[in-house]
Amino acid sequence: MKKAKYIIKKMTAKLVKSCKNLKNVNLISRIVLAVAAVMMVVALGVVLFYKTPLHEVICNPEQHNVVEVKSGDTLSKILGNEGFSMRDIDTISKTLKTEANFTTLRAGRDKLDFIRPSENAPISKIVIINGPWNRVEIDCGVPGTWQCQKVEIERDTRIAYKEGEIKEGSSFYLAALEAGVPEGIVIDVYDLLAFEMDFERDIRAGQKFYVVYEENYNAETKVDNGSVLAVSFDALRGNVQMYRFIKPDGHVGYYDENGNGAIKSLKRTPINNAKITSSFAGRRKHPVLGFTRAHKGVDFRAPTGTPIPAAGAGRVIARSFNRGHGNFVKIRHNGTFETLYAHMSKFAKGVNVGTVVRQGQIIGYSGSTGLSTGPHLHYEVIKNGVHVNPMTVKLPAIDNLDAKNKPLFIEYKKGLEEKINILKTDPKKIVRLKDEEENKENKK
Ligand SMILES: [Zn+2]
Repeated sequence: MKKAKYIIKKMTAKLVKSCKNLKNVNLISRIVLAVAAVMMVVALGVVLFYKTPLHEVICNPEQHNVVEVKSGDTLSKILGNEGFSMRDIDTISKTLKTEANFTTLRAGRDKLDFIRPSENAPISKIVIINGPWNRVEIDCGVPGTWQCQKVEIERDTRIAYKEGEIKEGSSFYLAALEAGVPEGIVIDVYDLLAFEMDFERDIRAGQKFYVVYEENYNAETKVDNGSVLAVSFDALRGNVQMYRFIKPDGHVGYYDENGNGAIKSLKRTPINNAKITSSFAGRRKHPVLGFTRAHKGVDFRAPTGTPIPAAGAGRVIARSFNRGHGNFVKIRHNGTFETLYAHMSKFAKGVNVGTVVRQGQIIGYSGSTGLSTGPHLHYEVIKNGVHVNPMTVKLPAIDNLDAKNKPLFIEYKKGLEEKINILKTDPKKIVRLKDEEENKENKK
């Protein structure tokens, strides 16, 4: 721009100078010349100022025609509508299949962009837009030959931080939505914290929390949310923290502040190394009652007085006696799992209905109370109200970091916390996880 202005200024000066020199020419000629000079300057100005856009409009008027895939549409039908011959349609379909492993278009989701280098020119490129981050580009090289490639759009992943507090009579769900946490992320957080707390019974007014998660941008437009990166919750038995961490081998897990697997799960055998004396069975002959009846748990050999640890963190929902189970404790771990421990000789001190227990916390001592032939632990796992086999039920894996990965995790967590602190003071600031990786690369 500056250059253009300079040129115009110089040209004007030159023209004025040359006009002054034409002293012999009459007034009309002078006026005509002056007008011509002004017009020339204006024309030059226009050309210089608008050089780039004019050039684009004239030389590169790429034409786009975006077609949305509707119910009943097929690739052949859409290509046919665009005027492709049967032979071209066949070639394009085959190329898509062999080079991009692409076979079906999804109605209501996928779009096709037909691109012509200029108006009335044949279509030179087809872009299948399938999802916010995926494209399949089909280029026409030599007329009649098509090449295709899958293109993944690079995500600009930014870190979002939302904090909140449980209000009187509210739930974590409502408080999180109120804090601006997207619903999908709230559900992920539920799953993460499910073994740490009971969202129905462990929620109190005044509990503070924060959720850190990924937001994916394409240019400056937010497209979707990624994973939960960190969670902090002031639970009844103290602050619970979880961090997402990717091991160098690509394995993704959530860990507490010390690098222990944050997803606590249940232990299949509450007492370590205890021998199974009777397995879970839909039906079996009851040793005392003598008739056939289901065995809804697993029996472990345990001399009277053996401490019985809770199989997972949770809340005691029963501490009682009945004829069959004798002294028993039942723990609710989350919305899905409950465990029951029977035939206890006595309960552990401080374990009552409502007590929040940690995984491994002693809840009682083995014995032979109730319908029992000898001291043992009868252990039941109840999933969604149905007794399941503790030895085979699918449980989230307990995954602690080893000596090699722990220091990497601690370093990563330090970096993430620094970013969280930046967002705590300025939640609108653009912060990326990647920045750190880039800096690390630079340091090497
Ligand atoms: Zn049993």
